[in-house]
Amino acid sequence: MRIGIIGAGQLGQMLGFAARDLDIEVRYVDPSDNPPAAECGKVIQCAFDDPVALVALADTCDVITYEFENVPVAALQHIEGIAPVYPPAAALGHSQDRLDEKKLFDKLDIPLPGYHAIYTRDDMDVAANKLGLPMVIKTRRFGYDGKGQFVVKQADDQDAAWDELGGKALIAEQWVPFDYEISCIGVRSISGEVAIYPLSRNVHADGVLRTSRSPVDAPELVAKASGYVHRLLDHLDYVGVLALELFVIDDELLANEFAPRVHNSGHWSIEGSETSQFENHLRAVLDLPLGSTAGTGHAGMVNLISEISDATRSLYIGVLHDYGKTPRAGRKLGHVTVVADTAEQRDTLVGIIDNSVT
Ligand code: AMP
Repeated sequence: MRIGIIGAGQLGQMLGFAARDLDIEVRYVDPSDNPPAAECGKVIQCAFDDPVALVALADTCDVITYEFENVPVAALQHIEGIAPVYPPAAALGHSQDRLDEKKLFDKLDIPLPGYHAIYTRDDMDVAANKLGLPMVIKTRRFGYDGKGQFVVKQADDQDAAWDELGGKALIAEQWVPFDYEISCIGVRSISGEVAIYPLSRNVHADGVLRTSRSPVDAPELVAKASGYVHRLLDHLDYVGVLALELFVIDDELLANEFAPRVHNSGHWSIEGSETSQFENHLRAVLDLPLGSTAGTGHAGMVNLISEISDATRSLYIGVLHDYGKTPRAGRKLGHVTVVADTAEQRDTLVGIIDNSVT
């Protein structure tokens, strides 16, 4: 059995480690020199949408999956007749366009912030009237980690937002003064078996995930978020892991976006769950029975961005995952996970690790 993975970054690497434990071979397509997952399997060094490379991958693998959401849908459709591709290309298509994604949330009665599609400068005025200020202008496609976003705080900011982002397909979103952010990660197998992980509470800095803590002690939120993820998984006839990011405001949940892949806010599951999100993703696409998603304690994860400091390396707590990447400003280089008996102990450990990060 061999799984083809488009993308050999850190998510591909963690999928590769899980595959090794399941005695499954992996093969990748990735354009970079010596990507993190190269230690896990053969890498066909080519662009993610290179038709020849993708056909070669599909020809030599039993099933194809991907580690990031900017793979062109057409590239997946090109090979799905050769080997099954999971998650389904249609789910990827919804996640690649914020307008399409929001229409899907609306259709499935998943609450979300108000929004308005922007095609012209005048549409911004209409959006401001409809949504109120502040509002966030986002590019509809290829935004990640807060890139391609502009917060319009007052009417005067609109020209600057248009100067920076105009010319691309845009969407305006109501500004949500959220209490905190969570994500809900679910997994569905080819047979339709569904399992949902305990919620993660996430803190972002400059749009990039900084820490995740799981579980979240809020049974009503757990029930709502799990229901929304279940709805998405079933509606999309989804196969694999999916992560839904939500804002929490006054006991209500508003959906921000979903990722059709294993997710940074679920990295704690390697040590903190009976079955990691990576193993369950592989189980789902191979139609193996899913493993238990139950947590094994109070888990915390701290992302290591731009550099892994000596102070972090010399800590004697937690498990350090070093992706082996060359340090660069803003680059995710690794993470540390802790699992504690109580939420208080976990929070203390997360605080110590977070302080060691420069
Ligand atoms: P995104 O790329 O849409 O996930 O946005 C990155 C981060 O920006 C989110 O995790 C939030 O912290 C913040 N953000 C995005 N959209 C909004 C919004 N409509 N209201 C408030 N904060 C937001």
